[in-house]
Amino acid sequence: MARILITGGAGFIGSHLAERLLELGNEVRIIDNLSTGSILNIEHLKSNPRFSYVVDTIMNQSVMAELVDWSDEIYHLAAAVGVKLIVSNPVRTIETNIKGTEIVLNMARKKKKKVLIASSSEVYGKSDKESFSENDDIVLGPSFRARWSYACSKLIDEFLAFAYWREQQVPVIIARLFNVVGPRQTGRYGMVIPRFVTQALSGKPITVYGDGSQRRCFCYVLDLVNGLIDLMAHPKSVGEVFNIGSDQEISILELAQLVKDLTGSNSEIVFVAFDDAYDRNFEDMRRRVPDLTKIRRLIGFKLTKSITESVQSVIDYYRSLGQNVILE
Ligand code: UDP
Repeated sequence: MARILITGGAGFIGSHLAERLLELGNEVRIIDNLSTGSILNIEHLKSNPRFSYVVDTIMNQSVMAELVDWSDEIYHLAAAVGVKLIVSNPVRTIETNIKGTEIVLNMARKKKKKVLIASSSEVYGKSDKESFSENDDIVLGPSFRARWSYACSKLIDEFLAFAYWREQQVPVIIARLFNVVGPRQTGRYGMVIPRFVTQALSGKPITVYGDGSQRRCFCYVLDLVNGLIDLMAHPKSVGEVFNIGSDQEISILELAQLVKDLTGSNSEIVFVAFDDAYDRNFEDMRRRVPDLTKIRRLIGFKLTKSITESVQSVIDYYRSLGQNVILE
């Protein structure tokens, strides 16, 4: 049993991670400022005596010092996320992502606490490779396009993590998360599957951006969480960066049709130009497939759910919340 701190623990991924770590017998403390996370995500964990939570920002250094001191291991998930949020709030994105990680790593340095940093597949930018592997060169767009600030902020996090490892011997692990899906994910910040599902369940048009031929791979959240826990446990993951996600591709138009079929919805599928969806300077990625060789070799990373099962889990989740949430 370990004492585990999760920053961003009331978020979609953080709350599933907390739940799984508790199931495994650990003590879990989370910190979340509830900006994109929600107290509802951790409601069911509150009665567990091994769970506790702090509603505060990771920028609060005295609170963070105490939390890091208490912990044996840290999962740093707190970040500004979601394409919509990133494009509309670039200052918040850059500051939270860079300063927040700096604070976590600096606190961890004092007692050499092990830290897993959640990075993102966004760091691969607009490379057109078949699949992305950890040692690939990075191809980003120009700085006047806000989207790339997120990739850059996550890259700085990675550089910082490596620097703390090499110079200060802080045991760090970097996980580049590809698209994730599952219950508790919200569409409010742009994520496509909860958006399509809530649109379909409320009979509103399903908004496919562009022509829908862009492709993504979606990983079921529990598969991802188990992978993160195995990375944290493995001694050879320290000082390394890993892709984590699914390598099963689906086009966004196929996804819209799948959501429509699984919900039995009469919603119309409509095409929205990227200019109208985000802003005039938006660039989307055509494809984004992880090369999973490294993580499979080290921890035997496995995917247990198909895209159909994953989408169904989101439909079940929104149905269980009822109509008010769907129409929000
Ligand atoms: N997308 C869409 N309709 C929406 C929201 C997103 O067609 O209502 C598209 C988006 O343009 C992208 C894909 O779905 O091509 C995945 O978007 P998301 O924001 O979930 O993830 P990311 O762009 O980071 O892969």
